[in-house]
Amino acid sequence: MNEPQILGLHHITAIAGHAQRNYDFYTQTLGLRMVKKTVNFDDPGTYHFYYGDEQGTPGTILTFFPWEGIGQGRTGTGMATEIGYSVPPGSLDFWKDRFTRLHVPHEAAAERFGETFLSFTDPDGLNLALLVPKEADARKGWATGDIKADIATKGFHSTTLTLKKIDPTAQVLTDIFGYRLLAQEGNRYRFITDAVPNAAIIDLLETPEGQPGRNAAGTNHHVAFRVANDTVQMAYREKVLGKGLQITPKIDRDYFFSLYFREPGGVLFEIATDNPGFTVDEPLAELGSHLKLPKQYEGMRSDIEQSLPPLQQY
Ligand code: ZN
Repeated sequence: MNEPQILGLHHITAIAGHAQRNYDFYTQTLGLRMVKKTVNFDDPGTYHFYYGDEQGTPGTILTFFPWEGIGQGRTGTGMATEIGYSVPPGSLDFWKDRFTRLHVPHEAAAERFGETFLSFTDPDGLNLALLVPKEADARKGWATGDIKADIATKGFHSTTLTLKKIDPTAQVLTDIFGYRLLAQEGNRYRFITDAVPNAAIIDLLETPEGQPGRNAAGTNHHVAFRVANDTVQMAYREKVLGKGLQITPKIDRDYFFSLYFREPGGVLFEIATDNPGFTVDEPLAELGSHLKLPKQYEGMRSDIEQSLPPLQQY
């Protein structure tokens, strides 16, 4: 039990353009809960939005830096190129109809590794998919007025990393993080951890001729892996250093502690803790409804509020 474990995905962070459009898509079209509205701690003139389930449980959290006017990024190698959400069996027809009605670009349902999925893109062109997992997913989705719990997304199923060569990244997953190769289909290699039942899958897609991605709107910024607490986290810091990779010191992100390192395939990885969670500065019922600032920026609140784009919340 004292063996440190990576508990699957913690969160994924992507870049958006227009803040209101991002909010509308993720809370209204996709039905996620905004669990935190704050600023980029490294750039407080920019929002940082967190979307997840009711509590913002690790493994359900998708976050965005909406940078107005940043321009379109390019999806390519050295980045996460698909965010996969788990949805209940039988829900894909609902989602397909909804995407058609709301003009969300999407593809026909398809199958990989024996699981049916529906690919779609957000208004910035970010690639996402809804997947019906083979194993039942007991997590409870966040229900909204028109997206009931029996069809709501349940949190992450997986993410896909696109790489020129998968081996160095695969070694980080297996030798440091405790994942194992589960299956292969063509150039897609599925890795899984047995430490958790959900948000446990990373697909590595090998594209030797692929062009490197460029980080801007519509692309993923980093992928965060989950650990129980900062004691376990620091054990992983040693493991990463022991493999000859660079890694940051522990950084306080108010809702979790973070370490960052660039894995050899080019993807920015983070190791993030469960503690303290999103209710540290707002009650559960009010998550996401107030602009929360880290204490170093509280004195600049009125300037920050004036510089941020207006956001209408429903
Ligand atoms: Zn992060």
